[in-house]
Amino acid sequence: MGRAFVYVIVGGGVAAGYAALEFTRKGVSDGELCIISNEPVAPYERPALSKGFLLPENPTRLPSFHTCVAANDEILTPKWYKEHGIELLLGTRVMSVDLKRMTLVSSTGETISYKFLIIATGARALKLEEFGVEGSDAENVCYLRDLNDANKLATVIQSSSNGNAVVIGGGYIGMECAASLVINKINVTMVLPGAHCMARLFTPKIATLYEDYYRAKGVKFMKGTTLTSFEFDSDKKVTAVNLKDGNQLPADLVVVGIGIRPNTSLFEEQLIIEKGGIKVNSKMQSSESSVYAIGDVATFPVKLYGEMRRLEHVDSARKSARHAVSAIMEPEKTGEFDYLPCFYSRFFAFSWQFYGDHVGEVVHFGDYEEGKVFGAYWVKEGHLVGSFLEGGTKEEYETISKAIQLRPAVGDMEDLGREGLGFAETV
Ligand code: FAD
Repeated sequence: MGRAFVYVIVGGGVAAGYAALEFTRKGVSDGELCIISNEPVAPYERPALSKGFLLPENPTRLPSFHTCVAANDEILTPKWYKEHGIELLLGTRVMSVDLKRMTLVSSTGETISYKFLIIATGARALKLEEFGVEGSDAENVCYLRDLNDANKLATVIQSSSNGNAVVIGGGYIGMECAASLVINKINVTMVLPGAHCMARLFTPKIATLYEDYYRAKGVKFMKGTTLTSFEFDSDKKVTAVNLKDGNQLPADLVVVGIGIRPNTSLFEEQLIIEKGGIKVNSKMQSSESSVYAIGDVATFPVKLYGEMRRLEHVDSARKSARHAVSAIMEPEKTGEFDYLPCFYSRFFAFSWQFYGDHVGEVVHFGDYEEGKVFGAYWVKEGHLVGSFLEGGTKEEYETISKAIQLRPAVGDMEDLGREGLGFAETV
């Protein structure tokens, strides 16, 4: 015999934390909600792990970055969950789920039943072994997905001062970690498979600006190549990285950021999977009516794109969480999830935000010489569909997000580039 809850959230990351707060605002009663997380700590703002957490001085540490601090909301400490009658099962993995019986079994052997299940299992970092490279277990090879990873990286950084780091991957984990390593006085080489960093989003012009800044900070780029193997010392510590192009890079520390895979394995036989994630409708409800999915693991209809997408960004995790809770607790009052995709990143003194979709024609605006406030617009079929902005104010980010939501018609691309932010202000 196990316990029974009305609502169970599997996974205790960003989406779970924001869902918990929304549940209390919608009036959940004591003992109705249970969150099961295999991490040892209450939900926290994961993006902090590659930013404040890695600073050499006054690094950010829990409890200061528990959810929902990044939304300027309450900080939900373990005490908060207790005070709100929410059962928080930490360090506990969900081993199996039976959606027909509406039960799950945890790693402590307990069977838990629910009326509504919210899947918030997020994603895991892709491992080198999945690409045929051995060595992920070495004490100086680091990934960055959870607090354990971040603690390991922070420890290796401390013992690598003035040493050499190799960062594999040029996505936002690679870019943010490289910046943090430089700040920690470590020599960094970034290994990128493509022609430039953040290849999925940045235009070559945007990437060049950031890469030039990184170079000025001493970062070297090895492009169009990948890691093929490691050299080890007798303690199985990595000493060098071998690249496909024949180069060998000395390494005291390796950070691997080569992508993620959503944690869907518990549900693959029981729910419809699309684009690698759990397929949900505009209420975040899966193919099983009592089961919802939120955050990185959910593939949901994005109206602006006119198609199903799975997004790997924190804003989507927060908002999809709130929407699912609202759809469960106030079904009549809850409409469709009309989400405007929003991504952001911060490294060195840079800070950018992106709204919408990066398809169609692109035009740049702002001051790329000065490199402080600049951006780009994406236009598809004569309408503005996406915007990138570096160094904007809160109001300017709001302005571009509102403009993208309205999908205004665009006449001349050159005029649009000349008008820059002014265009968004007149929409
Ligand atoms: P997660 O936050 O990953 O939470 C999933 C949780 O479920 C984890 O605690 C996991 O351990 C747990 N879990 C999984 N399986 C089980 C199981 N079987 N049983 C129990 N628990 C389980 N996004 C941005 O937009 N901007 C950024 O600057 C940015 N920076 C980031 C920096 C880092 C280092 C990382 C790792 C991510 C960053 N992101 C950023 C992405 C953002 O953090 C994610 O989109 C967000 O965390 C997704 O929330 P989630 O709740 O879906 O998943």
